[in-house]
Amino acid sequence: MAEGHADSLCDCCRYNDVIPDLGTPGNRERWAALEAAKRRLFHTLDLLKLPHGTEGENIRVPLSFSFMADALPDQGLWRSTASQEKVYTGHANGHITINVKEADDVERERLRVDMNESHRTLIGHFRHEIGHYYWDLLVKGQDESTSCRVFGDHNNPTYSDALEQYYQQGAPTDWPTRFISAYASMHPWEDFAETFAFYLDMVAVLDTALHMGLSRAEYDGTLDSMLRAFHQVGMAVNELNREMGPLDLARGVIAPAVREKLAYLHELIQNANASSQAP
Ligand SMILES: [Zn+2]
Repeated sequence: MAEGHADSLCDCCRYNDVIPDLGTPGNRERWAALEAAKRRLFHTLDLLKLPHGTEGENIRVPLSFSFMADALPDQGLWRSTASQEKVYTGHANGHITINVKEADDVERERLRVDMNESHRTLIGHFRHEIGHYYWDLLVKGQDESTSCRVFGDHNNPTYSDALEQYYQQGAPTDWPTRFISAYASMHPWEDFAETFAFYLDMVAVLDTALHMGLSRAEYDGTLDSMLRAFHQVGMAVNELNREMGPLDLARGVIAPAVREKLAYLHELIQNANASSQAP
């Protein structure tokens, strides 16, 4: 649509179903932070030529986003907040919801420490939730048996049983030898999403590093050269971060079991790229 039309939205904004209530103080800034992260996500998806589309755009699973806030606590009424007034960050059938409080640094850091996560970032939420989207788009009903072999059986235990067990018992102590994160051990779908998010982390960091002239970021397109380049850039940035205080960028070791999962995703993404270009 021609420039200047009120109803034309950019490639990124056309995916928005619900935006934050801009009448609430602070929400304009929160929304800006969410959109900045979302734009970085789409840049990486397009770099990988991963398919995505909205309703009516000839894609099996249309993608959309809602950025929502919890209903204000009890709004002056003497009652507890009902469960439907709480917004859960998550993905369902192509629809990604992100709670806008994740855009508050203090709130997000508190959650990160509470949940014992090495990172908790807005861009990380987008990369994780889009991982669930690509499970629905590329794996569901198409490649489930291979996914089961790599990530485990997503039907057994059920997601709700796995969730309950995780919140009661936490991650197994040996999770670093089998999973990219503690949360990935919760259920095969979370493992897929967490590993997918890490794959996007690598692609995005290396792309930016190359554009910033870091020759260590060069790789030949194979997974192992990508892992090597990410390790080299990651260790250098870790040291720079330790000089100034931010969290480490990269972990030191990728367990062989995690490399196998990344190898599956590497192939899945390349095949998706090839099939999206087929006539
Ligand atoms: Zn998830």
